[in-house]
Amino acid sequence: MLSTMQDVPLTVTRILRHGMTMHAMSRITTWTGEAEPRRRSFAEAGGRAVQLAAALRGELGVCDDERVATLMWNNAEHVEAYLAIPAMGAILHTLNLRLPSEQLIYVANHAEDRVIIVNGSLLPLLAPVLPHLPTVEHVVVSGPGDRSLLAEAAADVQVHEYEELLAGQSPDFDAFDWPDLDERSGAAMCYTSGTTGDPKGVVFSHRSIYLHSMQANTTAALGLTEKDLTLVVVPQFHVNAWGVPHATFMVGANMLMPDRFLQPAPLADMIERERPTHAAAVPTIWQGLLAEVTARPRDLSSMARVTIGGSACPPALMEAYDKLGVRVLHTWGMTETSPLGTTTDPPAGLTPEEEWPYRITQGHFPVGVEPRLAGPDGAILPWDNESAGELEVRGPWVARAYYGGSPGKELVPEDKFSEDGWLRTGDVGVISPDGYLTLTDRAKDVIKSGGEWISSVSLENALMGHPAVLEAAVVAVPDDRWGERPLAVVVLKEGRAVGYPELKEFLTGRVERWQVPERWALVASVPKTSVGKFDKKVIRRQYANGELDVTRL
Ligand code: ADP
Repeated sequence: MLSTMQDVPLTVTRILRHGMTMHAMSRITTWTGEAEPRRRSFAEAGGRAVQLAAALRGELGVCDDERVATLMWNNAEHVEAYLAIPAMGAILHTLNLRLPSEQLIYVANHAEDRVIIVNGSLLPLLAPVLPHLPTVEHVVVSGPGDRSLLAEAAADVQVHEYEELLAGQSPDFDAFDWPDLDERSGAAMCYTSGTTGDPKGVVFSHRSIYLHSMQANTTAALGLTEKDLTLVVVPQFHVNAWGVPHATFMVGANMLMPDRFLQPAPLADMIERERPTHAAAVPTIWQGLLAEVTARPRDLSSMARVTIGGSACPPALMEAYDKLGVRVLHTWGMTETSPLGTTTDPPAGLTPEEEWPYRITQGHFPVGVEPRLAGPDGAILPWDNESAGELEVRGPWVARAYYGGSPGKELVPEDKFSEDGWLRTGDVGVISPDGYLTLTDRAKDVIKSGGEWISSVSLENALMGHPAVLEAAVVAVPDDRWGERPLAVVVLKEGRAVGYPELKEFLTGRVERWQVPERWALVASVPKTSVGKFDKKVIRRQYANGELDVTRL
């Protein structure tokens, strides 16, 4: 029997209309580094998104599923692009402004971007790559910056002013001829940040964005409402800022956008002044902020909850924020999962001590992300919190393929997608009988020592629990006797000194004795990827080239 229910497509167009009318008074605040931030209501931002869609179609001739890229910080204009481009049926392609220029060129050409909307402050980055982007016909510039940089670079490209384009259009939602969209069609695309190889494009559908936003809005996940102000540090060029801009437009949660002011000091200032109730960022940002407020105290007490994910959150970091009255929610996800995969919401009725072992896991799976663990031989493993295997997931906001370079073409690499339709995450871990995931490593980072596996993440977490250690990354290096052994690369806190024997002693008792590294290097900072994760490829290369001052004991 067919149901008797209406079949209304789940689209970003609905999210736009809903947010700008039902939550008209909610606000996007963009930090400017000046006395006053820019404040814009959802009604205004929504109206400007309508204007942007009209200008892209009417003035620039964007049609069908053409790609409109953004090279922007987190700000109100970027949110407008997030809404306008998918709603008009085109594909929003967020360009990662921290990618090396060869990779930026690679992804823009691979996606065949036709338009790039760019923040003026990023023109020095765009100008040198623009001559290498043959498909780009239009550049739209928003905000202050030196336009003359484009004069030479953009001989074949038309340059437009964002505000001028908008000014010529009506902000009335009904004045634009919105296409009837199939909810399964592409809405936005994002390339993986290439921690483990060439960037690969994931194309999110209207349906996946809609369902992911609803999940993000449950109390088990971000749980934001109109009463919240969320500080969106996680970049909009990194997996849709974890879905926050679309999710907030659904429920009217207010956004605080840091624009280019991502250093610990301005972040601490904006938290103290604007008093966000929630924030989302990768662990390295939280480490930096903690060091900042330890040196120059600021009031972070407004932030009842913060979401940390993107790489493993060291328990010591969670404890430090607990002491500041800030509760950390640990999440796991990846570009291919839109990205929210798990979130930590301990079971009901537990004391804080009983909650702790749950809080330090990667979290619990929502109904839309079904997990299984595959052993080395492909056998499906039990959820006993002991059997470690590769995590595989499936669900309505999980990728089933990568973008193959032109519309309709897809890549389904066997090492990423199983024959029976599951995404192979490349993450290794265990699942408890009640469904909590603990990741021990990335498959590519796990240390294979004499037939046993050592978790680099466990060693890192243990080391980062030492009071003198700011950051620690552990990688596998070749070893004649054991095949591979761990190398610990450590950054000490300012003004602190500690010897390797003491660090070894500290680890003994926290991890198995045979897992304790014998190779150590002190460095000024751990190399990071474009989205702030430890870049283990670089550390392995530095070791192989003899660039690290390694002590063996
Ligand atoms: P890239 O793979 O290029 O780094 P992603 O942002 O998609 O880009 O990264 C996803 C990966 O980040 C996951 O597969 C996992 O290895 C890691 N990750 C994300 N969140 C966590 C977490 N909470 N704990 C451990 N690892 C995490």
